[in-house]
Amino acid sequence: QKPTVVITGASSGLGLAAAKALGQSGDWHVIMACRDFSKAASAAQAAGIPKANRTIMHLDLAAFDSVRQFVENFRATGRRLDVLVCNAAVYLPTAKEPTFTADGFELSVATNHLGHFLLTNLLLPDIQEAPADSLKRVIIVGSITGNTNTLAGNVPPKADLGDLRGLASGIDGRIAPMINGGDFDGAKAYKDSKVCNMLTVRELHRRLHDSTGITFSSLYPGCIAETGLFRNHVGLFRTLFPPFQKYITKGYVSEDEAGRRLAQVVSDPKLSKSGTYWSWSNDSESFENQVSEEVSDGVKGQKLWEISEKLVGLA
Ligand code: NDP
Repeated sequence: QKPTVVITGASSGLGLAAAKALGQSGDWHVIMACRDFSKAASAAQAAGIPKANRTIMHLDLAAFDSVRQFVENFRATGRRLDVLVCNAAVYLPTAKEPTFTADGFELSVATNHLGHFLLTNLLLPDIQEAPADSLKRVIIVGSITGNTNTLAGNVPPKADLGDLRGLASGIDGRIAPMINGGDFDGAKAYKDSKVCNMLTVRELHRRLHDSTGITFSSLYPGCIAETGLFRNHVGLFRTLFPPFQKYITKGYVSEDEAGRRLAQVVSDPKLSKSGTYWSWSNDSESFENQVSEEVSDGVKGQKLWEISEKLVGLA
């Protein structure tokens, strides 16, 4: 069997581009874990990902039941699992009111963080069982916007999980719109969820790298200003954001290039250092980047892990 990679949210943007790079290489079987089966099927077809190298499977990260069902369905395929890529995300910057999932959590934190937290924990044993020559990796896509040590991360509203009191209140079944217990802000909720993604990678590394041999990493692929992520933003923003990123910040990267970067974190034997947050220079050289003070806060990472475990029903 070829090595298998599961990519969440592979129906558009970065996830699709990475699925394309890996699926076309012929070295990988790609499981496209998507909430909209027909959208994923047409996207895979249009991108030219050979049918023999891909399987589309249903996964709605905003519902814990669906995450659990996905894991069962994946196991039923009998495939080995080498790499899990947690890529899917929603970004709701113009939402005035929070949307809550059936499990009772604000939609962007539930999708981007909690769904992936549960998925990762459930699939770790499968990755551990991969053959000895497997690369064994878990990758959670991070973002510069969650890192307040960067210019982009300092555009208000800034990410800030505070003492996690809003998230923790979910343990008693209370519904809080924001992790820090504050008022709802859609753009901040996204940034907070990205901080959770990067804290989770560091905590996975601390807890499990030595005992499992799995490489845990995060990355910032560059600003892919034309993906569906910005579909909920105001029209003017969507028109001006790509040229702004291209010519002013020079952080712009095409979907194909970003997909190759993510594919590199999946498959390049050189990118095997666990606990790393990868970024790329303008000439597309990968390097280990620094994270913000909040993302490197190990105590916060531990606390986030313990709360998340309870919220998703693992503890
Ligand atoms: P897209 O909106 O193009 O892709 C997001 C994907 O997530 C889509 O496939 C979407 O599915 C899927 N998704 C959303 N909700 C769910 C859900 N409940 N269950 C399963 N899948 C879901 O955005 P990008 O490609 O830009 O984003 C991909 C990743 O890259 C994200 O983690 C984002 O934070 C990160 N990123 C993006 C940057 C950028 O500049 N664009 C910069 C830095 C990081 P559907 O097609 O059905 O909507």
